[in-house]
Amino acid sequence: MRAFISCVLLLLFCASILAHAEPDPSWTTPIAPFRIADDLYYVGSQELASYLVVTPKGNILINANLATSPSQIRASVQKLGLRWTDVKILLNSQAHYDHMAGAAEVIRQTHAKNMVMEGDVSVVETGARTDFLSPSPNILTYTPVHVDRILHDEDTVSLGGVVLTAHKTAGHTRGCTTWTMRSHLPGEPAGTSRNIVIVGGTSFWSEYHFVATPGHAVSYPGIVQDFQHTFAVLRDLPCDVFLGAHGQYFDMLTKLGRYPQDGPRVFIGPAGYKDFVAGAQKTFEQELAKQQATAAR
Ligand SMILES: [Zn+2]
Repeated sequence: MRAFISCVLLLLFCASILAHAEPDPSWTTPIAPFRIADDLYYVGSQELASYLVVTPKGNILINANLATSPSQIRASVQKLGLRWTDVKILLNSQAHYDHMAGAAEVIRQTHAKNMVMEGDVSVVETGARTDFLSPSPNILTYTPVHVDRILHDEDTVSLGGVVLTAHKTAGHTRGCTTWTMRSHLPGEPAGTSRNIVIVGGTSFWSEYHFVATPGHAVSYPGIVQDFQHTFAVLRDLPCDVFLGAHGQYFDMLTKLGRYPQDGPRVFIGPAGYKDFVAGAQKTFEQELAKQQATAAR
């Protein structure tokens, strides 16, 4: 009987692993890398965004994605005619596995310095075991990686004359980061530059508790203030070129359809950005009101 129970438990365990072993196919389907600005390229998959910032002193990679993604990202970098080992700095949008599980492998291969926003540092250094939602079937663990530089809100990361600014847009994770930079877009008049925004993430799901209820604390103290601050920050960011950690945030595949004719300017979309932020804020406020109403009953 004991052997039978162990067997059943083992089967359940395997089934639970299998249930999460296959990510959304769009997360792993490769696409050809493409240029967004003079010094910015897309090197991610169909849905999981990864960006390469190219400078004369080496390159910056934003997002290592899934544990299986580094070989795909590397192939995209090499397809651009660039050297994989020129990646000197690894940044991320947030510490969830779909943006961070590949970090250990990227760092092993490139020796890039790993820079992470405060709030996500312990999550990255424990491979998500200290995520505020952990343990959860939605928070897959990954190989922990050492953080070389802890970033704070509005810190800048500079390399070879290119400057990226880290905006702490927490709530989705405690160190969720929106990256901004200014750059010239190919095809636009010389001497002009655009504000580029790479949104870190604003979503939540049913495991996020914004209001304490009997027997259930909030997900973490200050989560509501973090989300509210995030929407205020995002509303204020000047944005010409709208990008994000997931292609879906900025409707990437639709825009890419027009890329062969129109080039990188397909990503110029201040109105789309404003709509995205307003929609995300509304979704959050509705859920907050719902949880407050439930708690008040
Ligand atoms: Zn996430």
